[in-house]
Amino acid sequence: MLKNRRSRLKLFFEEYSLNAVLFTDLRNIRYLCGFSGTDGVLLVSQDRAWFLCDSRYTAQAAEEVQNAEIRECAPIRIDTVAALAQEYGLGRIGFEAAHTTVAAFRRMSEKLTGVELVELGSNLDEIRICKDAAELEQLSSVATLSSLSLTAVLENIKPGVREVDIALALELEMRRRGAEGKAFDFIVASGERGAMPHGRASDKIIQSGDLVTIDFGALKDGYHSDETVTVACGEPSVRAREIHSIVRAAHDLGIESVRPGISCKDLDEVARAYIRDKGYGDCFGHGLGHGIGLEIHEMPTVSPRSTAVLEEGMVITIEPGIYIQGFGGVRIEDTVVVTGDGCRVLTSADKQLLVL
Ligand code: ZN
Ligand code: ZN
Repeated sequence: MLKNRRSRLKLFFEEYSLNAVLFTDLRNIRYLCGFSGTDGVLLVSQDRAWFLCDSRYTAQAAEEVQNAEIRECAPIRIDTVAALAQEYGLGRIGFEAAHTTVAAFRRMSEKLTGVELVELGSNLDEIRICKDAAELEQLSSVATLSSLSLTAVLENIKPGVREVDIALALELEMRRRGAEGKAFDFIVASGERGAMPHGRASDKIIQSGDLVTIDFGALKDGYHSDETVTVACGEPSVRAREIHSIVRAAHDLGIESVRPGISCKDLDEVARAYIRDKGYGDCFGHGLGHGIGLEIHEMPTVSPRSTAVLEEGMVITIEPGIYIQGFGGVRIEDTVVVTGDGCRVLTSADKQLLVL
């Protein structure tokens, strides 16, 4: 499996005439060699690989790292990279420009004398864009855990409860069910706060008649889930119902349109056009969705500016919304995997307007 993943680097070796690629981004490292710790680098040549870490991680690396030679190095890791480059004649090494600070780049240039460093853009992260069977299983499992957790805490939503109480109950429930943590700071935005697409749970007290948008996800084995429901606490207004049904229809249309071969831009437009036709075009400012995996937001993005085309195995979110200043908002989100002829929805919390 890891060999298969690494073969995706072939294009980069060829296009940039590289002898090796140096990885410092922990998501890419985990993806390519299995290491789940929080410090280390991976150097991959056409036919071998070295994982470099300090003594804190040697035992963990011995357990987790596959298809790479483990080198414990101290005190300066880049010296070990330089030694390997010399020993194996690695004259052109690509690096992750999108994940490298200017300071780190200067240090690399200084230490790797005789090595030509080649900037590889964020398109290097595209090696992770199509998920393999093992990843789909992880993504499906974390999505299920997360959806069930939400369902279990819905009864906590009632007038008089703070938004942050809902977020806390949800996180606890996820941990209880085996999550290693939350995928991001949950959004719990009630009443007028619902107009903020990223309104993190605050100490605002939920009132009767409020719509409550809950955007949540769990983290398990490095993989994230992402899902949003908007529920009503007490009987919602006619306008709240109207907005919810528009967003829900746009969401359903989006999901129905997911298939290999559709461009992410066209997919975005399907849902956006629907919302626009209903008169709320100015109230949907963000993209329709994003890729998800070892990162909560990864490629491809689904927005009016996207250039990607969907392929089987990509995992994306579909999350249209309507946000009205001074009134509130609605967002509905599911995570789906692109299949041979459409998609399979991984998240499963009820998307109808629940009146609690
Ligand atoms: Zn979300
Ligand atoms: Zn999302």
